[in-house]
Amino acid sequence: MGSLDSVAKTVLHRRYLRQDKEGNVVETPDEMFHRVAANLAAAESQFGGDVETTEAQFYEVMSNLDFLPNSPTLMNAGTELQQLAACFVLPIEDSIESIFTAVKQTALIHQSGGGTGFSFSNLRPEGDVVLKTGGVASGPVSFMKVFDTATEQIKQGGRRRGANMSVLDITHPDIEEFITIKAEEDVLRNFNLSVATGEAFWDAYESEETYDIVNPRTGETVRQADPDAMLSQTAEMAWETGDPGILFLDTINEQNPISELGKIEATNPCGEVPELPYEACILGSINLGQHTDNGDVDWEKLRTTVHLAVRFLDNAIEMSEFPVPEIEEMVTKTRRLGLGVMGFHDMLVDLRIPYYSEDAVEFAEELMGFIHDEAWKASKQLANERDPFPAWENSSYEEPVRNVTTTTIAPTGTISLIAGSSASIEPIYSVVYTKQVMGGLEVVNDRFVDIAKKREFYSADLVEKLHGRTTIQDVEAVPDDVKRLFQTAHDVPADHHLKVQAAFQRHVDNAVSKTVNLPQSASVDDIKEIFLSARDLGLKGVTVFRSGAKPEQVLGESPLK
Ligand code: UDP
Repeated sequence: MGSLDSVAKTVLHRRYLRQDKEGNVVETPDEMFHRVAANLAAAESQFGGDVETTEAQFYEVMSNLDFLPNSPTLMNAGTELQQLAACFVLPIEDSIESIFTAVKQTALIHQSGGGTGFSFSNLRPEGDVVLKTGGVASGPVSFMKVFDTATEQIKQGGRRRGANMSVLDITHPDIEEFITIKAEEDVLRNFNLSVATGEAFWDAYESEETYDIVNPRTGETVRQADPDAMLSQTAEMAWETGDPGILFLDTINEQNPISELGKIEATNPCGEVPELPYEACILGSINLGQHTDNGDVDWEKLRTTVHLAVRFLDNAIEMSEFPVPEIEEMVTKTRRLGLGVMGFHDMLVDLRIPYYSEDAVEFAEELMGFIHDEAWKASKQLANERDPFPAWENSSYEEPVRNVTTTTIAPTGTISLIAGSSASIEPIYSVVYTKQVMGGLEVVNDRFVDIAKKREFYSADLVEKLHGRTTIQDVEAVPDDVKRLFQTAHDVPADHHLKVQAAFQRHVDNAVSKTVNLPQSASVDDIKEIFLSARDLGLKGVTVFRSGAKPEQVLGESPLK
């Protein structure tokens, strides 16, 4: 088994390992990996596969920390819950019945560790008529508060707090209220917000014309709005609070291989999986730092891990149980997978490529291109062994494949702590810092320590000096070339964050969850520019975070607080 550091052990102990009725932990991390491997390998028996060999392979790949599935799989596989997916989208129609059905479904999903996204765009605006009662409608934002309160009470089965994504179309009459809602204190604490934009809006923006604000109940245009002013207002709020982000629904739907099944209107909480209503996605991430050898990528090992990971995730779909029958039906139809990566910065350090360099962007393309190709080879192979996904005949794919999508870049907020890797495709935040678990555990970047020792500039004093710094660029004791390898999220300018996101997005079927960090001194216009570049780069969505802005409330918190 790979070596788990003290943060990893603490995280597992507190949230992942099985407990008895009294709350005593009754499983070791090694037993957890065996539990998950045995559960997922059991799916092989349905397809005439080799259960035992597969179980051993799944155990190896997880316990060596080469690959980890999303948290719900680690927590629930082989337990009574058996709900393995992290990412859900639920439909909300314009009726009390539909809204409160979705509240109930949300509660059940949060209880099992999943996160939910919704489009509120179909709800009639505030002040509109309610025919049944002759009253006035309270509008999408007031109903979001109902979901928020429900989420607050569930706390995801005691293991993690619920997370939601709320999407509202930029043509909705209540859009201004939606954009500015987080200016209020303590409102929608369990929500990320995203403004949905499409071709009509961007055409109007380009031609400097107004666009239509439409009541979704009647289809009537109720007024005109200025696209530039709307973008500025969105940028202003993102400057202040980090929310809302922007979604490019036209790009998302142009790239949707199953458009015959409907229109995608929302994503899961962190934005990496645009989904049709009732779809769910099980994520898994390859730990890239475990796939280097002597300063180069170990491509053969990477290929093996990708193929195994695709099988693992497809088996997870087979084994997962869902709390809502409509979800079970959709998941079985589309078999959406979210294979991604963590430890991208670790890998760059091993390859001696600075994160903030053109080489890093080029390498990101090569790397994700490889993973994407291999993932599709694996999905094709599974379609031969098993069947293509049932909605394949209604899809744009010519060749039979087992899954509607294979790749995604997730934030890996918790599983990267278990793996001891840098998170997702993000640059590191700090070389030495205190993780707020068990009264505070010091985390020192082990690659930095290795290099410092080899190059003979290591000292306990240096580690002390670096503690809690969000940049080491001004520390004289560190040689310049090493400083460049350990640039942090704060050292990397916003346009480079975007370039990295775009490089990955070009080789990812779903979407990329990435934070575009900005310095405190950034202006509202800088943020507007980022929205525009994100559009030009063909991204599916974008979220910014300005240092010193009101902290992001949904997932910015340590999962251990
Ligand atoms: N998620 C959630 N609650 C959380 C963290 C994550 O519901 O506290 C869901 C959400 O859909 C998010 C997805 O899990 O987009 C993946 O997040 P991440 O990669 O950080 O999860 P991990 O598997 O590392 O826990």
